[in-house]
Amino acid sequence: MKTGLYIHLPFCRQRCRYCDFTTFADQYDKVEAYVKALLQEMDGYRGEAIDTIYLGGGTPSTLTEAHIGAILEGVRERFDVDKDSEITMEMNPSSMSPDYLAAIRELGVNRVSIGVQSLHDSELTALGRLHDRAQALKSIQWAQEAGFSNISVDVMFGLPDQTFDSFLETCYEVANLGIQHISCYALTLESGTPMYKDNMNGKLNMPGEEAERAMFESAVELFTQHGFQMYEISNFAKQGYRSRHNVKYWKRVSYIGIGVAAHSLYHETRYGNPETMEEYFKMVKEGRNPFDIVELDERDMQNEFLFLGLRMNEGIDVAEFKEKFGKDIFDEFGKTIQWYTNLKMMTSSAGRIRLTLKGMNVSNSIFTSLYN
Ligand code: SF4
Repeated sequence: MKTGLYIHLPFCRQRCRYCDFTTFADQYDKVEAYVKALLQEMDGYRGEAIDTIYLGGGTPSTLTEAHIGAILEGVRERFDVDKDSEITMEMNPSSMSPDYLAAIRELGVNRVSIGVQSLHDSELTALGRLHDRAQALKSIQWAQEAGFSNISVDVMFGLPDQTFDSFLETCYEVANLGIQHISCYALTLESGTPMYKDNMNGKLNMPGEEAERAMFESAVELFTQHGFQMYEISNFAKQGYRSRHNVKYWKRVSYIGIGVAAHSLYHETRYGNPETMEEYFKMVKEGRNPFDIVELDERDMQNEFLFLGLRMNEGIDVAEFKEKFGKDIFDEFGKTIQWYTNLKMMTSSAGRIRLTLKGMNVSNSIFTSLYN
């Protein structure tokens, strides 16, 4: 697999109540300078062969088509872009229109990822999203009419006042919209967000862990019945429509992250860019290297191989571990694997180790214990 390219576009009209991503509300006066800085940062990777491009954010669809065009043109000038590249752009239903979608498609974007989250207006309001149900449905229809045949939709569970039924209604409707991919995430209340504070002050009626687990398991069943294969803990795809870019993250294929707070895995080194716009501009201007450089030692690579590989339904290949590290995975992690196998959270068969659905439901604690 060739290297992937991630470009972070940290601009949003307003901040959602649960968001702790690196994004800036209403700072569109900085877009022009930011695009220039992105192109300058890309200069450092001239000639690199890539076959996936992912425009993430933030809300990339709040940038004009001229800015998106300048970024993609800049990528093509600097990178050796495979002609069959997957080019994804994240979009928000509140900032999409038929004309915009047609222009973006013309620029070469061939996959859109739409942040729907819920098809219930009360749940969207609680999240502080800018769109409503009608806009969400319209945006998907417009993307289809613009000719996009690879559409992903995000949905969320574990929302305040969300019931098992209201979540499954969203899942059912989304699964029947003729789209190709669904990302289904649990809401996490990150400290510092308005929603976290509301919860600490007892203002939110959260569904609770037990209910969340039931939502997740039912969503897996529902999506599977509708022809979406679960290929990663939070991701479901129709045949042939896995996110080629995101699979690189889980398979530890090299990727380059460009922009504020973007992370890279490049030549077995992980590094991250600065998290503020000012520091990012400074870094690019001075031509310094990014921050947080971590050269991975062998144990780090083994740990990553395990916890990233186990996110995928196909799990990890025992022979591949041996080939990469010259060691038997059971000699290195045998006790932990046995422990979770006894708990029916892992299985080991036909040369692969996988998480069961029960294991996927508590995957975070399993990954934490693998890393210790
Ligand atoms: S649209 Fe996404 S990135 Fe922007 S504020 Fe909302 S959750 Fe955060």
